Amino acid sequence: MKLTFLGTGAASAYPLPFCQCAYCRTAREQKGKNLRRRSSVLINSDLLIDLGPDVFPSACEYGIDLTKVRFLLQTHAHSDHFDPGHLITRIPEYAGQGISRWNLAASRETLRKMGRRLCGEEPGVDLFDPKWKEKLNLAVFPVSAGESIQLGTYHVTALDACHDESEQALIYAVRQGGRELLYATDLCRLEAASWEILKGFSFDYVILDQTYGPGTTGGGHLNADQVVEIIAEMRSQGILKPNGESYATHLSHEGNPPHNELARFAASRGYQIAYDGLVLETEE
Ligand SMILES: [Zn+2]
Ligand SMILES: [Zn+2]
Ligand SMILES: [Zn+2]
Repeated sequence: MKLTFLGTGAASAYPLPFCQCAYCRTAREQKGKNLRRRSSVLINSDLLIDLGPDVFPSACEYGIDLTKVRFLLQTHAHSDHFDPGHLITRIPEYAGQGISRWNLAASRETLRKMGRRLCGEEPGVDLFDPKWKEKLNLAVFPVSAGESIQLGTYHVTALDACHDESEQALIYAVRQGGRELLYATDLCRLEAASWEILKGFSFDYVILDQTYGPGTTGGGHLNADQVVEIIAEMRSQGILKPNGESYATHLSHEGNPPHNELARFAASRGYQIAYDGLVLETEE
């Protein structure tokens, strides 16, 4: 299993375009791993998690051919995770003929919201309408928290992100060829029901939301201290393999210092900080 981080920033990216805080100023000056696009990840070459606004510039920069994507897991439809302007280019008027069919999985509420946001691009789009699914060349798979589906060679389990109840935001556990990954961006907390499901896994990689830095609190997301607690609990329960790796993503300037300083904080607590363009790959 190969994992490529196309973005590791929170909704407002990092640095924020107009922010003058010390973290954003340093990121602007030092560039490199301090520049974070909106969060998205590609598994192998064919499974994309979140069609965010920065997916295409990242793909161009890292030499990734997005025409190979066959599967899209959408965590939710917030603007930093779903750009309707990208998806609408699948209709024949934009992309011409011969593009590969996509298989899209998300919660029903997220699919409805994606449809409403697509209407800003083309009036009347409805992801449950066969006519629009055909036009967008999509098969749509509604999933609920606790459910599993098979998408090609991927066995995908959805869990509650507790992030936005209005659209039932989800995180995903993905199993393929004996390898297991948890991608948990925009996670607010893991409920008891989610922990029960997670006990059935032994992850190679656990990727967790860390919108807020150490000692910083905010709504709807994890902070660094909660990430440390969750990873320790997963290791103690064997949910994360002894040699498994854990990374933080979806990082904002709120308490998260520039990369090197944050990476030192994480290393001293047994996890790592993802950055744009980072590739993780398991040996077969
Ligand atoms: Zn987000
Ligand atoms: Zn800032
Ligand atoms: Zn969100």
